[in-house]
Amino acid sequence: MSGLLAGTPPLSEHAYVTLVTNADYARGAAALVRSLRLTGTQADCVVLFTGGVADADLDPLRALGARLVRTDLLETSEAFNAAHARKALHGAAPFTKGEKPSFHTPLDNFAKLRLWQLTEYSAVVFIDADAIAVQNCDKLFGYPEFCAAPNVYESLADFGRMNSGVFTARPSEATFAAMAEALDAPGAFWRRTDQTFLQSFFPDWHGLPVYYNMLQYVWFAMPELWDWAQIRILHFQYEKPWQDPHPKARELAPLIGLWQRIEAGGDMPPLESLPRP
Ligand code: UDP
Ligand code: MN
Repeated sequence: MSGLLAGTPPLSEHAYVTLVTNADYARGAAALVRSLRLTGTQADCVVLFTGGVADADLDPLRALGARLVRTDLLETSEAFNAAHARKALHGAAPFTKGEKPSFHTPLDNFAKLRLWQLTEYSAVVFIDADAIAVQNCDKLFGYPEFCAAPNVYESLADFGRMNSGVFTARPSEATFAAMAEALDAPGAFWRRTDQTFLQSFFPDWHGLPVYYNMLQYVWFAMPELWDWAQIRILHFQYEKPWQDPHPKARELAPLIGLWQRIEAGGDMPPLESLPRP
């Protein structure tokens, strides 16, 4: 199936879009949508979801007014699917910096590209389901395709790679078709899935400030970069804040606490009151 199935019509020409393929990411997405609403945005919050999500797991998203759009994983070849299966990918390109949760299926990541099929919107901002908005990000709807922040969480060398947890896009079926073709080329192996692919498809990606995609490891690895007043989106790459417990939970406790507060329906505390690393 190549189309998308929307339950409700769009209410804005702009949308924040996320992806959920199972119950765990649906939980993450609910915290994300809550956080976006707290920023006062009038843009739609679209959740692309697959058949892997039970209807009841979408209820919190419905209650928050998210626009739910049913979609499918991409129609990739058997060779592509085999190369990007969790075991094969973790074997060929091991993760040495952090742990991916058991509910993370690398192949599912590529379904992000479906957002280019949301042509009812003139501009969209994709945000991973394991992130929360800390401040309003609507300015990004005026930014061109393709903007993303660098994958900074360890050292200066990180500035040359992008992170695909937050990016700007202009939906277009033509772009989607061109991507689908480039993605599943014979022998293709995208070691960090959609992230490696998007950096290759948009080699001249425009860099957003790191604050639009502040990665949780910056908290302990590069604390001098941490500045609540500037942070727009906080992204829990690797271990997720709802994993209980995880190996870095103690080090990241203040960030996990903030995520939990938003998930529970709390407000965003005054930024100057938040702890510093
Ligand atoms: N995702 C999903 N199901 C999966 C894997 C990923 O729904 O099995 C979506 C979800 O929106 C998630 C994003 O793709 O936030 C990217 O995965 P993740 O955030 O776990 O990767 P990381 O940020 O740790 O690299
Ligand atoms: Mn993520």
